[in-house]
Amino acid sequence: MSKQKSFPNYNSKSGWNALLPARAANPALEEDISVDVLIIGAGWTGISAAKRWHSLSPDADIALIDASEIGEGNPGRNSGFLLEIALAEDANPDQIEKMKLCNRLTADTMAKIFAEIKGSGQLVDISKAGTYRAAASAAGMKSLQNYRAFLDAAGLEYDSLDRSALESRIGSKFYQEGLYSPDCYLAQPAAAIRTLASLLPESVQLFENTAALQLKPLSAGWQVQTPNAVITASKLILANNAFSKELGIGRSHLVAMHTYAGLTPVLEQSVLDDLGSDESWGLLPTHRLGSTLRRTHDGRLMVRSMHSYEKEAPRAKIEGELQHRLEKRFPQLPNFDFEHCWGGAVGFTYNGGAVWGEFKPGLYVSAGCNGGGTVKGTLLGKLLAETAHGLEVPDVPNLFGRASWMPPEPFRKLGFNIAATLESRQGRHEL
Ligand SMILES: Cc1cc2nc3c(=O)[nH]c(=O)nc-3n(C[C@H](O)[C@H](O)[C@H](O)COP(=O)(O)OP(=O)(O)OC[C@H]3O[C@@H](n4cnc5c(N)ncnc54)[C@H](O)[C@@H]3O)c2cc1C
Repeated sequence: MSKQKSFPNYNSKSGWNALLPARAANPALEEDISVDVLIIGAGWTGISAAKRWHSLSPDADIALIDASEIGEGNPGRNSGFLLEIALAEDANPDQIEKMKLCNRLTADTMAKIFAEIKGSGQLVDISKAGTYRAAASAAGMKSLQNYRAFLDAAGLEYDSLDRSALESRIGSKFYQEGLYSPDCYLAQPAAAIRTLASLLPESVQLFENTAALQLKPLSAGWQVQTPNAVITASKLILANNAFSKELGIGRSHLVAMHTYAGLTPVLEQSVLDDLGSDESWGLLPTHRLGSTLRRTHDGRLMVRSMHSYEKEAPRAKIEGELQHRLEKRFPQLPNFDFEHCWGGAVGFTYNGGAVWGEFKPGLYVSAGCNGGGTVKGTLLGKLLAETAHGLEVPDVPNLFGRASWMPPEPFRKLGFNIAATLESRQGRHEL
């Protein structure tokens, strides 16, 4: 197992984190320790698992390690959509009771995240702004119809918008039609994850810049090698998403799919005046290779798009294309360079299902966020801690899917490349 591959090590800084004041990271682990439970990955999933473990076993010694720093790593690199309902791709009106339960669990989790962040008194840009989903072509319209059918069947509110209604709200003529759903929060993700980490119970030891390099089973418990020390733990939780496969779990189920974002500088007021009536909004694509957009409260536009398989692409390769995709939607923008441009890894599974549960004695895993794991990860991390305590929990594989098998390399990469080429062709007008 190569050291580089067991954890992410991005070339570009997270744009969201760069907008925040500097933060002093917790020290890395330098000495061997022994704990009751070790959680690998201090993201949405790992922080939630740590908090729930502590609430169930207040006396347990809990350690949480992360290869990166809070806010700079993957959990602070996303587009900041905190969905209160299951993603449209999961929406099957035939299974509406199941979807309603997923939505209820997700909405309850989101309510707790919001209450926790607001209750902290820390300044975090987070609000229930809702989200647009919009289609530019026949391929997108088809998936918009499926989404509408799901919203109808689930009894969820939405507004339908034609091209001119969308233009008047967001200042783009690019889309033919869209739906606005109120059931989504938009957050500054690096600020949100910093705050959630700051609310960990004091007794949880958090070590940043501490990567798990290798796992070893013991007769009772687990030993984890980090760069400078060894951790021995009775129970182990992998909450490191795509990278759990590099530690030996989910190798046949997970891919680290990289995706990219660009954030403009704060735009001039005269430019903002030409960008519709909504001062802060988010838009999700209808095609899975499409582009996510945001306008932030401080007057920037963000675009998230493009993918690369298992490797971060060089900034030079993605920046121009991201810029092109934003300009296509907003030809009125004056010439600009992104202030920040970065990538992050999504734990992708073939069927969108999760890698979740006890995989070996005392080894629990929650991975495979599939591009929408902020709220879902928070829920699944909590449920993992509960299941490890023997509590009865909702049937996660049935509700959220179980990740399906993928062929080994080189067939896997070949299959992805073929599928991505076909899908990009089919959805080329949505890119
Ligand atoms: C550009 C982009 C935009 C996205 N937009 C959205 C969005 O708007 N909404 C949404 O819900 N999701 C979005 N996602 C996906 C989102 O980032 C994930 O769903 C979410 O972060 C999953 O949380 P997590 O805690 O499960 O995993 P992660 O956020 O991946 O966190 C895993 C943590 O484990 C650490 N780690 C990994 N390997 C090791 C190791 N070996 N040792 C120690 N630590 C390790 C990492 O540093 C990381 O901090 C986006 C992703 C990207 C890249």
